[in-house]
Amino acid sequence: MTIRIVGGGLAGSEAAWQAASRGVPVTLYEMRPVRATAVHKTDRLAELVCSNSFRGDKLDNAVGLLKEEMRRLDSLVMRAAEASRVPAGAALAVDRERFAEIITQTLSTHPLITIVREEIGSIPASSESEPVIVATGPLTSDALSADLASLVGQAHLYFYDAISPIVLAETIDRSKVFRQSRWDRSLRGSSFDTLRTSEGTSDTARGEPVEPRAPACGVDDGEGDYLNCPLTRDEYEAFYRALISAESATVHDFDKERFFEGCLPIEVMAHRGPDTLRFGPMKPVGLTDPRTGREPYAAVQLRQDNLAGDHFSLVGFQTQIKWGDQARVLRMIPGLEAAEFVRFGMVHRNTYVNGPTVLAETWQVRARPTVFFAGQMSGVEGYVESAASGLLAGINAAALAKGEPVSSPPRTTAIGALAYYVSHANPAHYEPSNITFGIIQALDPGKAPRGKKLRNLALSERALADLAVWMGAVLTP
Ligand SMILES: Cc1cc2nc3c(=O)[nH]c(=O)nc-3n(C[C@H](O)[C@H](O)[C@H](O)COP(=O)(O)OP(=O)(O)OC[C@H]3O[C@@H](n4cnc5c(N)ncnc54)[C@H](O)[C@@H]3O)c2cc1C
Repeated sequence: MTIRIVGGGLAGSEAAWQAASRGVPVTLYEMRPVRATAVHKTDRLAELVCSNSFRGDKLDNAVGLLKEEMRRLDSLVMRAAEASRVPAGAALAVDRERFAEIITQTLSTHPLITIVREEIGSIPASSESEPVIVATGPLTSDALSADLASLVGQAHLYFYDAISPIVLAETIDRSKVFRQSRWDRSLRGSSFDTLRTSEGTSDTARGEPVEPRAPACGVDDGEGDYLNCPLTRDEYEAFYRALISAESATVHDFDKERFFEGCLPIEVMAHRGPDTLRFGPMKPVGLTDPRTGREPYAAVQLRQDNLAGDHFSLVGFQTQIKWGDQARVLRMIPGLEAAEFVRFGMVHRNTYVNGPTVLAETWQVRARPTVFFAGQMSGVEGYVESAASGLLAGINAAALAKGEPVSSPPRTTAIGALAYYVSHANPAHYEPSNITFGIIQALDPGKAPRGKKLRNLALSERALADLAVWMGAVLTP
């Protein structure tokens, strides 16, 4: 009895932990440092390649619910995230090095886990007692991609993603920026163990609570202890003009290329209209410039990227502008005139399979149920979602190896809803998804409170109760 896992990213690491925690020996194959990817920088397991944020952490927010479910399922990724947490208001952001180090240490010292540094070129042989989990991520190596394509019977899908630049903290002009959470929300001083709710999330126009937007690439939910770079109208217009005339590194035809909508490069957004950025990553709402006492015309938010606090990333500023132009344009942002870039933004390809045609709700490949896919390449989007899919794949692969039934939590839970979405969404228009309340089974009409926030909290309450029932039925011997 053993489980082979290919890929030591967020999904593969979590799957290894879950399977080994159930007493099943695991061999985890990770190709770094023998073979690099285009974006990973280290040989550590579970390296976060872009944003250091796991997004919102409150229960009126779907990704907050997903994280809470993972904590209750003893997720290693969640343990490591808590242990490496950096201030980010109501979001869960981590020191990326410490995070990956904790996971690497934990797995490499686990008595049931063997880590092999090797590129796997084809899906290993599998059987019920020796299942395989493939979790090779958006940057799955070419050799394995070809073998995957022959298993799933179709060419892989892909789109382009882009990552945000990071600047050195000491090069930010503090006289021009101000520290503030949007709507003044912050977790500091609040109790963190009880039901988490986000206070003050209101859309000023309608007075209606809004669910924070939470796409994968760190255009967070606007919560957090950010440094804000305020722009006047003149500054914004000059920045906009420079941005749309800057030279792009690879993709020139913005209409034809496929980008993930939640992670659009700023220049692609800018090409959609002069104000698009002011309603996106440069939105000023909820911010007050202490020097004027007013909301700025536009703002760029910088989020602390490591515990030392010496790196800040430009939130939602993923870009693929050529590096020379990138530095020139971004230095037009007030406070960043002399910024030194630790990393420039860039674009990359994102590989994923069409989940609904390939996968069962248990993350098993329908055509070969002794093989599981997990993580981004299985058709989810985001760090947390990838880890969540690895968590369930690990539990189920262990069950299969031990001759026990496989299962998925109910669709009333976030983790079950994600599994259901990946295996049952419309394959004709399939796009990897972040977790949202929209994919969780709705409340009975009679039981749904009025108002979005209360409804979301009720969904979360039900999810956690149903998860407890599932855990009691499935996970206890
Ligand atoms: C450039 C970029 C930026 C991103 N930004 C964000 C972000 O800001 N926020 C967010 O939530 N998500 C982001 N994502 C998505 C992110 O990749 C996933 O959320 C998450 O890392 C996926 O986890 P995973 O375990 O599926 O893949 P990964 O974490 O990428 O892990 C896959 C692992 O498999 C290894 N591997 C690949 N092929 C082989 C092989 N043949 N043999 C052995 N090992 C192999 C790789 O080296 C890697 O370690 C980004 C992705 C990319 C590529």
